[in-house]
Amino acid sequence: MPSQVTRLVTIAFVASLAACSTVTTTGVKNTTKTFNTVVVDAGHGGKDSGAYRRYGPPEKMVALDVAQRLNRKLRESQLKTVMTRDSDVFIELNNRVAIENAQKNAIFVSIHFNDSRRRVVHGVETYYHSGASFDLANGIQAKLMTIPHSKNGGVHTANFRVLRLATCPAVLVECGYLSNRNDGSQARDWEYRELLADRIAEAIVEQRFGSGVYHASALAAQSQSQTESPSGGTGLAPSTGHR
Ligand SMILES: [Zn+2]
Repeated sequence: MPSQVTRLVTIAFVASLAACSTVTTTGVKNTTKTFNTVVVDAGHGGKDSGAYRRYGPPEKMVALDVAQRLNRKLRESQLKTVMTRDSDVFIELNNRVAIENAQKNAIFVSIHFNDSRRRVVHGVETYYHSGASFDLANGIQAKLMTIPHSKNGGVHTANFRVLRLATCPAVLVECGYLSNRNDGSQARDWEYRELLADRIAEAIVEQRFGSGVYHASALAAQSQSQTESPSGGTGLAPSTGHR
């Protein structure tokens, strides 16, 4: 059964489909207002490239970059962090869960980018499993929607292993579709990835310490003002190869 579950979960990740579950969530400690540690999980890695590349870099690379940026921002906000990976290495889902659940007073945030056979599909989605994770998922999605021209793919429940087996509040963010031309080109832009990390960090810090506490990096603030310029478009210059 474990190998079958692994396969199913892998398929679910690739297809972004949440399988039906009869597993009930027990023992989830709601640390949303008390956590001092954030487990930052960059999806995929090593032999597992994640979403198929059409317009952007491989999912494993952009997910790691957003996760590293998020990690730095959370540390700057006086939170402890643990990264499940900090380089291009393959980590089993069970090992990610073990890292996640080894923390005493934590939340878990997994960073992914999405893929669809339908190239018109685009937007940002946030997933959760336990009820204790709902506020965090909602908060992150809401902050991501403050990025100009962002498309709201919604907050959904999912049966992903890192969410289902978590004993702390746990969410998974799909930061856009690499299969979509516009989302993919944004994912290739490090300034956009900085903006993604900034909004996720803001949501996490506000969840813990209340609104108005988070200080965006100068770069993210600048990107925000650029994207709000009346000239239209994303306001973000195409960028190459920050990896
Ligand atoms: Zn993924």
